[in-house]
Amino acid sequence: MKEQGITTAIVHSDPWAGVEHGAIRAPIHTSTQFGYERVEDLIGVFQGTAKNSFNYARQGTPTTAALEAKVTRLEQGRGSVCFSSGMAAIAATFLSLLKTGDHLVSSKFVFGNTNSLFGTLEHLGITTSKVDASSASAIEAALRPNTRMVFVETIANPGTQVPDLEAIGELCRQRGLLYVVDNTITSPALFRPRDVGAGLVINSLSKSIAGHGAALGGTVTDTGLFDWADYPNIFPAYRRGDPAGWGLVQVRKKALRDMGASLSSEQAHQIAIGAETLTLRNQQSSKTAMSLASFLQNHPAVQAVHYPGLASHPQYRIASRLFAAPSWLLSFEIKQVSTMLQVLNRLHIPVKATGLGDTRSLVIPVAPTIYWEAGPEIRADMGIADGLVRVSVGLEEEAALLEDFEQALSGDSAGR
Ligand SMILES: *Cc1c(COP(=O)(O)O)cnc(C)c1O
Repeated sequence: MKEQGITTAIVHSDPWAGVEHGAIRAPIHTSTQFGYERVEDLIGVFQGTAKNSFNYARQGTPTTAALEAKVTRLEQGRGSVCFSSGMAAIAATFLSLLKTGDHLVSSKFVFGNTNSLFGTLEHLGITTSKVDASSASAIEAALRPNTRMVFVETIANPGTQVPDLEAIGELCRQRGLLYVVDNTITSPALFRPRDVGAGLVINSLSKSIAGHGAALGGTVTDTGLFDWADYPNIFPAYRRGDPAGWGLVQVRKKALRDMGASLSSEQAHQIAIGAETLTLRNQQSSKTAMSLASFLQNHPAVQAVHYPGLASHPQYRIASRLFAAPSWLLSFEIKQVSTMLQVLNRLHIPVKATGLGDTRSLVIPVAPTIYWEAGPEIRADMGIADGLVRVSVGLEEEAALLEDFEQALSGDSAGR
């Protein structure tokens, strides 16, 4: 992974594609309509033969296209489609590429709202098997004749489990299955799912790519590795020209155009500015997260720490080999669960908030909040301890942050 290459690609991406008046970033195009001098050109837009393909902003604008080009370059893909949020991108992928009777195999450790979406798919007749993806053989055992897709996340939230990404990629290649990887926690700054054979990559841009807690967005990127010619769910209208483009055309038409969860140019611009410091922020926050994880691991008030940068993490070796850094996400279990709320209330610096990948550190007790709706049985199955706290590490100075955790955790030493 050439980290210098990533920032260079982001900051120079717009002029490489050409911007009017010598501007060095794509402007915010607010027009929802795109008009043409000659009606033949308008017809060309509808028939897919025009060079400039803008039509109506629901299907994209020059500003969202500039962001798509950036993400495509970062993921070394063949193309990307932007959506209004990460969930919109995930729903778009499932709803435009799966149909009733299909089966999906997913890691059981996925983002809570993605897991909830599997329930919606079930209502539509699309079934999901959820397995522990740290072993590719568990994925293999769950495959059925009607399995169309395998879905995993790079680092699971909040438990930080890492799937056997390479072996699953090899399995999908052998079986001709569409391998979809949600790269949100690592982002292309730390990992490229294409390197392990992913066919589609999803990023919630709202997290570390936009990075400042100020914009929502999501993308689906086609890596070019999957052979769409044999994929049975491509509509006849999109089985035209080079099969390499079929999948993403269907995602853009059936999901973005027909379902309409479009990213606005204003948000795309905000995300593009945030993305310029993606690598710097990830380097800094991963370094702080590593120090915080080590500190917490040695603290007597802490029962366990979950962070792929620690040698004690079950997938430490896979994570060290594949990721440029172990990321800014960690979780830890407080030994005396009864003290958890006091400990968190004693923290001055991290914000008590849900959300991830901000410039500010964010902390949340997991069981009574994001896993409350799931109930005790699912929490037990997912390994969510009652004293589990999730930390999204921000850009605050490391010494100040560690000192704050020290005073918060040690404040209850009398009661220990
Ligand atoms: C946040 C998140 C999403 C959803 O993204 P939004 O932009 O909030 O809709 C999907 N996957 C993962 C891993 C996430 O962390």
